[in-house]
Amino acid sequence: MPDSTRKKIVLLGATGSIGSNTLRVLREHPDRLTLAGVSARSNYRALAEICTEFKVPHAVLTDPQAYQKAQAEKVFDGNTQLACGAEALSGLAGLPEADTVLIAVVGACGLQPTLAAIEAGKDIALANKEALVLGGAFVIERARAKGVRILPTDSEHNAIFQCLEGHSPAQVERIILTASGGPFRETPLTDFAKVRPADAVRHPNWSMGHKISVDSSTMANKGLELIEAHWLFGLPPEQLQVVIHPQSIAHSFVQFIDGSILAQMSPPSMTFPIQHCLLYPERAPSVEPTLNFQEAFQLEFSPPDPQRFPCLELAYQALRNGGGAPAVFNAANEIAVERFLKDELPYLAIPKLIDAALEQLATTAVPNIDALLALDSEARVLGREFKL
Ligand code: NDP
Ligand code: MG
Repeated sequence: MPDSTRKKIVLLGATGSIGSNTLRVLREHPDRLTLAGVSARSNYRALAEICTEFKVPHAVLTDPQAYQKAQAEKVFDGNTQLACGAEALSGLAGLPEADTVLIAVVGACGLQPTLAAIEAGKDIALANKEALVLGGAFVIERARAKGVRILPTDSEHNAIFQCLEGHSPAQVERIILTASGGPFRETPLTDFAKVRPADAVRHPNWSMGHKISVDSSTMANKGLELIEAHWLFGLPPEQLQVVIHPQSIAHSFVQFIDGSILAQMSPPSMTFPIQHCLLYPERAPSVEPTLNFQEAFQLEFSPPDPQRFPCLELAYQALRNGGGAPAVFNAANEIAVERFLKDELPYLAIPKLIDAALEQLATTAVPNIDALLALDSEARVLGREFKL
């Protein structure tokens, strides 16, 4: 198949969970999609294997030690040009020949490459929610100014995007994000003090990276997604709701002013939204089996319990406060999760750390990216020094 007929994809975070689901989609559609560039932080062997399998011309490792090892061990074959560092990552996001850039790195490090892809005028498939939570105002403003399309890859936002197509914003009453409720949906509250990292990363429906799995267990993930939805769809917190849906089949709802509600449904696998974004606006057969209505299954919905999931209310608070508050929420959560996963902090400290950061740090409007990154760093210092 000639390359000119295939969409050229740059995949940032190729070695992660979204990355590996993206590779499944690419394997299924070699006639439509090709990989122009990939990145990882330090997992150089896995990145080299991807480059060999997909004959990827450009790769970036952001960790300098991993880059040196990769060079010394000559794990990349001669067909791949390997570069190193955060600037190279932004360079890859703006790769001239790329059509769509899928941002699937984890954490705030997604912001700069997202902005670089926007400046280069690329279509962006955005899985990295932290970029929008941290710098949503700047990302959306720059994307508008450059006329760049942001295709939401997070399953809930992808669902909303699909439900909104063909409707005007004035017709929308509210958006309802579904949440699985994570592994502790029914755990007695008295057992929360005993939760260990291995328990929190065990998600009932989705297989994901460690950070987002912990976020799902606390529902900080849904909090980040509320803020993400605010920026993507331009709605205030009063028009954003969350409902627990343990089966993770209805990926979110849009309720219109006439009371009609549209949902997007598919099995709980990220290959569905990833494929939707990469092929958009085309559609093609899915990588995996689709929903089978010849077998009985149930869909349940219930409101989230604020006592069980305090991170959700903290996210609403950050969104209502505006200014730098969402950035503080994001940074404080990242540090809290990092310290919990290292066994430095107990599980119940996660909301306490976020609360303390939101209390202590200024939440006035942030004038530019430098001020935003300074606030992000300040929240991280506070998070690292936090004691119960
Ligand atoms: P993983 O932890 O599985 O993968 C993260 C990827 O990013 C890896 O390729 C990793 O490289 C790379 N990476 C990690 N840290 C850095 C860094 N500091 N600089 C550059 N690259 C880095 O994460 P997920 O795939 O689970 O999640 C990716 C993003 O997508 C997150 O923002 C998450 O919130 C979002 N998301 C994920 C979903 C999922 O199902 N997993 C669903 C919806 C959204 P290396 O392997 O070398 O460490
Ligand atoms: Mg999601």
